[in-house]
Amino acid sequence: MSEQNVVDVTIIGGGPVGLFAAFYAGLRGISCRIVDALPQLGGQLMALYPEKYVFDVGGLPRILAKDLALNMIEQGTQFGPEVVLEAEVRRVEPAEDGVFRLVTARGDFPTRTVVVTAGKGALNPRVLECPGWDEHRPDGGVHTHVRQPEDLRGKRVLIVGGGDSAVDWVLGLNGIAREVTLIHRRPEFRAHKATVAQMWAAVERGEVRVRTPYETRAVVGEGGCVSGAVIFNNETGQEETLAVDAIVALLGFKPDLGPIAQWGLHLEKNSIHVSQLMETNVPGIWAAGDVVHYPGKLELIATGYGEAAIAVNNAVHYLNPKARVAPGHSTNLKIFKQDDE
Ligand SMILES: Cc1cc2nc3c(=O)[nH]c(=O)nc-3n(C[C@H](O)[C@H](O)[C@H](O)COP(=O)(O)OP(=O)(O)OC[C@H]3O[C@@H](n4cnc5c(N)ncnc54)[C@H](O)[C@@H]3O)c2cc1C
Repeated sequence: MSEQNVVDVTIIGGGPVGLFAAFYAGLRGISCRIVDALPQLGGQLMALYPEKYVFDVGGLPRILAKDLALNMIEQGTQFGPEVVLEAEVRRVEPAEDGVFRLVTARGDFPTRTVVVTAGKGALNPRVLECPGWDEHRPDGGVHTHVRQPEDLRGKRVLIVGGGDSAVDWVLGLNGIAREVTLIHRRPEFRAHKATVAQMWAAVERGEVRVRTPYETRAVVGEGGCVSGAVIFNNETGQEETLAVDAIVALLGFKPDLGPIAQWGLHLEKNSIHVSQLMETNVPGIWAAGDVVHYPGKLELIATGYGEAAIAVNNAVHYLNPKARVAPGHSTNLKIFKQDDE
């Protein structure tokens, strides 16, 4: 990958708090890059509970988590920050000549300051913990997400899971895959009622198959390619082998602070210890949101917004000591236009 340009601030983690930090970076006129390990922005809201309603964000009496995330993405990217996805930051190399270097598998990203908004750490997709899974790769038929439905055209697909993603992809692959079978370890699904109803309607029409309470015992393959899955009924123990070409495990995510623990930041309770200015122990690095700890910390979106504003406005002052920390009121800023102007 070619050498990247140096930005004023890099936000590590594009969840709601990181997106609000990116908004403030734009409002203050500093250049910004958001780096996230996941293929999409939105953090926990998109990855863990897109179909749940959130009731405790100021000014929004009730909003679906995915809609809140979409609003955050619109607000957080309006000033054009560079967005780098599927890039877990593995190391933060100490500043040389005032520039940190963030090391990812997609290249190194230089930056003058860092705001860590990494939530509970990289949300790693859960995999099937059964023989045969680790021996296969996505090109051999095991997946933890569907990148392109077309990749599964004409295949016999087994989906494992009981949440929104699993039910959505049963419907999304219906008519594209040759066969779609869903197994879930419980008869109840933790997904949006309307899509569960659509799934059962597709079962009634004989378009897809749903088996509960079933789990996977083994992934079967030949020459690195999946050829089947051994599944079992967890009440009766009855076992059978399904002939499938692809297995998609949609089992949610496993939070893991992972590499962040090795960056030389003071940790407390498995979180980054910050001052009331959201400073870490490393000058030039701030943190906000679920990833931080201080006395009285509440792990809420609302709290994270305030922390993000404090972190970025202090980073602005650090970059340019003549710049005030206080951003002013958005109602009065020239960067925004009021409708009647
Ligand atoms: C089921 C559920 C319901 C909830 N309901 C509510 C609610 O009603 N109200 C409320 O206020 N809160 C709620 N929360 C909590 C809320 O979602 C979190 O407080 C919020 O998501 C924290 O935002 P964040 O931006 O700090 O972190 P996250 O949303 O966790 O985002 C962090 C991002 O950082 C990325 N990342 C982590 N490590 C790295 C790395 N090394 N490199 C690159 N990227 C990295 C992750 O991939 C992720 O996208 C709920 C949480 C759950 C699980």
